[in-house]
Amino acid sequence: MQSQREIGIYVHIPFCRQRCHFCAFYLEVAGTDRGGETAEGTTRIDAFRLALTQEIDLYRRQDSIGSRPLQSIYFGGGTPTALPAVQLVSLLQLVQAAWPTEASTEITVEAHPSTVTPTDLKILVDAGFTRISFGAESMDENDFAKIGRPGRVRDTETAVEAARAAGFVNINLDLMYGLPGQSLESWTNTVRSLLTLEPSHVSCYALTIEDGTRLSRNIALNLVPETDDALQIDMESAAETLLAETGFIRYEISNYAKPGFACRHNLLYWTDGDYLGLGPSAQSYVQGVRFGNVADLTAYIDRLTARQLPITDRTSLSDNEQQRDALVFGLRLLRGVPLHRVVDSAQHRTIHTLIEKGLLEADAELIRLTSLGRRYADTVAGELF
Ligand code: SF4
Repeated sequence: MQSQREIGIYVHIPFCRQRCHFCAFYLEVAGTDRGGETAEGTTRIDAFRLALTQEIDLYRRQDSIGSRPLQSIYFGGGTPTALPAVQLVSLLQLVQAAWPTEASTEITVEAHPSTVTPTDLKILVDAGFTRISFGAESMDENDFAKIGRPGRVRDTETAVEAARAAGFVNINLDLMYGLPGQSLESWTNTVRSLLTLEPSHVSCYALTIEDGTRLSRNIALNLVPETDDALQIDMESAAETLLAETGFIRYEISNYAKPGFACRHNLLYWTDGDYLGLGPSAQSYVQGVRFGNVADLTAYIDRLTARQLPITDRTSLSDNEQQRDALVFGLRLLRGVPLHRVVDSAQHRTIHTLIEKGLLEADAELIRLTSLGRRYADTVAGELF
């Protein structure tokens, strides 16, 4: 029954201690005047937590969402661990009180390595978080200043050791490649160094320059070099080789996992699964409807104080549009997508052309990106949309 399909919950915690130069996510810098005391005497974080409580309460009253079992809960951001661990635990308990949780439910918290102590990590494990994802970004400290990432490489090493000691088995480390001035040698050293920490999952993201970020302004001012596409391709290949040698399976364009450790929450995005996003700017896809929350904390709080959901856009997809999205997002998985996802004759023609160009390949059952296609995945997606 459609209404009993598992669903994932994403909770956007919109605070960071400072903004990295490449980051275009919606967030506020906590600890500044905006993150500090308001006229009402409560902090922005307190007001956010109260509003989030209201949002969960409004959804739990909707039968089509509130009664569904959970495949996953994912606290992302921002930096969830900008909040004290006990506050994250109380938010998790609120979500769990609203949706039935099973022993298999994957519960992830993203963390900046410099923001967690051994005590925090123990509190998170004891409360039921099963997976932690650290934003390592690089293992070469020379890279940090150029991208405005706070902290030290030693913080990552210490945080991973402490997470494991606290009881986390499922540990992801995020890396970025193509950083300003980063060489192929420096990148391969970063990957090798990261692997000594023995994560169960690694995400490797190519640096992209988003409009409006400090990095894009610095490039325009010639303060840092532009990204080098050819070098990024070499870096991607080098990472794939090094990770494969250590037993990692590349299961999505940017994601590698030891067997059994693929991220269940992120798989929802690529397998036509339903997910509900909570918090400012969070995006949702539930039963063929895409909708997104307002990307403004004040507006988010105001709407929920008035007991209204903070949704600003909502698109109901036709059956064909749902099939198209399932195909386009599913192609990010290396295993490919069942051919029956292709229902539209125009899409058949596009796919035929993309196969001729060497960007896609198909067998009797599946269609998938070729290694060339993975480098131009956004172009392929653009052709299919
Ligand atoms: S820690 Fe992550 S979310 Fe926060 S500013 Fe840096 S990249 Fe953005």
